[in-house]
Amino acid sequence: DSKKKGKNCLSVFDDAMQKKLIDEHDLTRDLILALNRTEEIAPWFQPKVDPGGRWVGFEALVRWNHPKRGVLNPGQFIDIAEGQNLMPALGEAVLVHACKLMSAWRRQYPIQNWTLAVNVSQSQLAMDDFPAKVEEVLTKTNLPAHCLQLEITESVVAENIDGCIAQMNRLRRLGVSFSLDDFGTGYSSLSYLRQLPIDELKIDKSFVDTLLLYEEGYSIVRAILQLAQSLNLSVVAEGIEEEAQLRALVNLGCKRYQGFLFSRPQAPEQIRDCLAAMKIVS
Ligand code: C2E
Ligand code: MG
Ligand code: MG
Ligand code: MG
Repeated sequence: DSKKKGKNCLSVFDDAMQKKLIDEHDLTRDLILALNRTEEIAPWFQPKVDPGGRWVGFEALVRWNHPKRGVLNPGQFIDIAEGQNLMPALGEAVLVHACKLMSAWRRQYPIQNWTLAVNVSQSQLAMDDFPAKVEEVLTKTNLPAHCLQLEITESVVAENIDGCIAQMNRLRRLGVSFSLDDFGTGYSSLSYLRQLPIDELKIDKSFVDTLLLYEEGYSIVRAILQLAQSLNLSVVAEGIEEEAQLRALVNLGCKRYQGFLFSRPQAPEQIRDCLAAMKIVS
């Protein structure tokens, strides 16, 4: 009987595995096609806000508008893109698209001091010609370098710290700035933090989640803010969903926020409508 059960379990597992493999195969094929078309892979935008709730910039977050499956989130295809070595192409598509939009919005609305943050993967940063690509994109889209911020994660840096620092310095010479994303979740070493040419830390959502759940959660966020202050780094807290979290962060001296409390990531058309409806005092 137990043998039979085991066999059944095994066959259920096989079906699931097989479906996953077919799914991945289909998605890989579709992704290669999508990267050759312009409109399927596109950034959505989530605002970063100041203590008054005013927008001060955006983070570009990739979405794939799949012809059959609808809008897919990065969680549904980024691993596949990484595995198939498609991340550099995907990342570049997002960078170009996001810079174009930001540049157009800057021409139309008084948002000259706003920043556009774009996530960068390890495989992108590691490309020798990445700084040259970024420079070319900025020139072609007519976006000033000081408007562009690149978000990298600790895991990106951990793989090759010296190489990363060299690449980052090349990009900084263009005028681009850096934010350390998901801070506190990777294999962070505090000695990296001193060496890395970054301007900003992003407190990971997991710390915002526990901020008001345990005293330790609160202490950790406070410690991150103190650390940032003594290293002269700005701080953004990500994943804020509740008013009480915001109040606690304001009290701790955090000055920049991102989260569903303010806005979910939105399609470019929605962002443009918001900008058009906004009275922006810059
Ligand atoms: P991330 O860079 O840490 O981005 C934050 C993620 O948290 C986004 O998910 C965003 O939609 C979500 N988020 C923001 N506020 C809240 C909130 O209040 N509550 C909850 N539950 N979630 C919130 P998304 O768009 O699914 O992106 C996931 C990850 O995929 C990103 O994490 C980033 O690591 C990666 N990613 C997205 N776009 C790109 C890209 O263009 N290039 C690269 N290399 N990675 C990207
Ligand atoms: Mg990010
Ligand atoms: Mg993040
Ligand atoms: Mg995150």
